Amino acid sequence: MHASHLTFAATTVRSALGALCAAALLLAASAPASANEWSSCLKELRTIAIGKGIGAQVFDTALAGVEPDADILKAFDNQPEFTIPIWDYLSGLVDEERVADGRALMEKWSAVLAQAEEKFGVDRFIIAAVWGVESDYGRIMGKRELVRSLATLSCSGRRQAFFRGELLATLRIVQSGDIPAASLVGSWAGAFGQTQFMPSTYQRLAIDFDGDGRRDIVESVPDALGSTANYLKRAGWVTGQPWGYEVRLPAGYAGPAGRRTKQSLAQWSELGIRQADGSALTGSGPAGLLLPSGVKGPAFIVFRNFDAIFAYNAAESYALSIAHLADRLRGGGAFRTPWPTDDPGIGRAQRREVQQRLLDRGFDVGVPDGIVGARTRTAIRAFQASAGLPQDGRAGMRVLQALRAPGSGPAVEQRMPGSGPAVAPGQK
Ligand code: CA
Repeated sequence: MHASHLTFAATTVRSALGALCAAALLLAASAPASANEWSSCLKELRTIAIGKGIGAQVFDTALAGVEPDADILKAFDNQPEFTIPIWDYLSGLVDEERVADGRALMEKWSAVLAQAEEKFGVDRFIIAAVWGVESDYGRIMGKRELVRSLATLSCSGRRQAFFRGELLATLRIVQSGDIPAASLVGSWAGAFGQTQFMPSTYQRLAIDFDGDGRRDIVESVPDALGSTANYLKRAGWVTGQPWGYEVRLPAGYAGPAGRRTKQSLAQWSELGIRQADGSALTGSGPAGLLLPSGVKGPAFIVFRNFDAIFAYNAAESYALSIAHLADRLRGGGAFRTPWPTDDPGIGRAQRREVQQRLLDRGFDVGVPDGIVGARTRTAIRAFQASAGLPQDGRAGMRVLQALRAPGSGPAVEQRMPGSGPAVAPGQK
């Protein structure tokens, strides 16, 4: 799939985890255009747009008074090198809140999900899980004006040709009247709406599923769910097949692995691989063996449909979070094999608790929103330093437990042990 998929979940992932360092960010790094460069670039873009069928008035209205967004370019330059352990990634995207919210919303939108399932043959739990991971079920869609972001990236950086295409696709949305210009806000790179489609992806794959004549993935839940199902179908979803399931490796497993290293289930069985409960492998078709954290962590047999999820946003951790959230929405539990760490990841409610407890001790984290960004990591490091702990800046179980322990330090308020999270689960 094309390069835009690198950026698909940018809003969700970066806001949920505050730390994704996508290659695309670095590629786009550049100095902002000068005022002269900006105005001559806009003139050039105007000529190109009109040549591609965008009305002069549409262009002029959309770009009127638009200044380059220096924050975008600065953000690219300042992206810290920070690798998210897979267990932190999963803990932030598949937590109790997202499961509970997803179940409630699946109930509310059950008729639409049933229609999408019937029309596109895509499992409703997967559709809902994509919705939950991409935009927290439509609640976090990004706030940057698409036209401004994409014009900025069309005039600076090394991927101008790509972003110019996205800007044109955005102007086409405005021209068609599908989505009001004011609603076209999204991630830094232009992923927008409840599906976090790039504008060019919107043009190819968004559908009008509520029948009002407009393809509106921002305001219309049916359009967003239908468009997601359409996307997955086009990505090769096989109706009635699972994405895969957790398996158990034999002791000392040193055989092949990888999503793309496909073998028959008979071959995997011969290598001693069983379902997590010890029963024989089931399913049909070639499968890969996913080992996100090596042979000591959870292992998964993955089929063709895992690749379809992967196509939505080319990262295996992303695809696994969708797959796992779908299973949790279906009623499934946590993985049987724990992640190979003595410092497990924590969900958003616990991340808010970490932030609140840091605040209580006088460390500045801003608003406790469950989003672990640079500010929270800096505060965690400062707390770790004050407590004599290794300073990894990670919001994990170990730091949460250290914060729950009665502290010295600049405590403003002490909580009684067992008084629970500072912010109730479910509070947004
Ligand atoms: Ca519609």
